[in-house]
Formats: sequence, structure tokens, C-alpha cells
Amino acid sequence: MIISKGTVTEKLATFSASHRCPLSSKIPWSNFIPNFRICTNNLWLKHWESFFLHFATWYRAIFPTISPLSWFQNLNLSRKSIASFSRLRFGHILLPSYSFKLSLNDSSFCILHNDPMVCDITHLIFICPSLLPRSDHLLSLFNSYNIFFNTKNILSNQQKNIILNILSFFNHTGFLI
Ligand SMILES: [Zn+2]
Repeated sequence: MIISKGTVTEKLATFSASHRCPLSSKIPWSNFIPNFRICTNNLWLKHWESFFLHFATWYRAIFPTISPLSWFQNLNLSRKSIASFSRLRFGHILLPSYSFKLSLNDSSFCILHNDPMVCDITHLIFICPSLLPRSDHLLSLFNSYNIFFNTKNILSNQQKNIILNILSFFNHTGFLI
């Protein structure tokens, strides 16, 4: 899996290297950087849209398109929070469901109780009996913000308070993300 992701990364890097923006001497030099950014973003967007439908389905459900701005723009989040929430969104986390697939864990089951249940993001937020009443508190918060109870919908949220509460919840579980 790691090799596969590396290959995709290499393809993206190769694509960028071979499809650079054509430079134009007509561009006023004070406008060069914004124009270059727009051009690069359009190239990435075009390349992203060219992938087959089932590529990165988890991430596409959270972010259907590539935004010209970073998702954490103007949120004033710490670097650690940005990294942790990004990992949740990518699905590249160390919860047992994922670490088991990478052979880093003996089991994909939740270790907080004896019932065998696969431990992923959805399990911890919506199902895990050992995390009550903290998960109820989180769900009440989603309810007060009119956020639909769906894992991908929750992870696509852009509000600082929601993001910090989700991260705090996962920190409380004791699992690394
Ligand atoms: Zn559990």
C-alpha cells in the first residue's frame, strides 16, 4: 500500500514537472506570482479530475474538488491540529482498522471493550460503547450546528470549533491519529 501511494505521488510529481506553466514575458512582473498560482492550481485540478472515478473515493467524498485555498486558511489552527485533522481526512491514521491493513497491528478490532468491532473513525464517533457519554456530547454539538451525522460530512466541516472538538474527542480515546 505504501509503495502504491508512493507511485501515485511520483506520477503527480512527474506530471507537474512535465506540465509547467508556460512563462510569458507579457505578464507584469508584479502579477507574476498570483498568475502562476492560478495556472498551477488549474493544472492540478485538471489532473485531479482526470483520475478514474474510484480513485481516492474517501477523500473525494470529503473534498470533491481542489480548492485554490488551503482548508485551514484563516482558521488560526496550530500546525499539530492541521496535521491531525488532515490525517483524519486522508484516512491515513493509526487507528487499528488502518494499521492492521499495513501489518502494523495484530487486529483491526477496538481494544476499548471485549465485543469484536472494527475500530475506525465511524466506530469511535458513533458506535463505541466505551466512549459514552463523550461521543454523545460530540453528537449534540454536531446537532446544534445542523451537521448531518455522517463521518465524511463531519470531516468536511470547516468550522474551527467543530474541528477542535473532534480532535479533542480523538485525543481522549487514547488512539494515535
Ligand atoms: Zn470501541
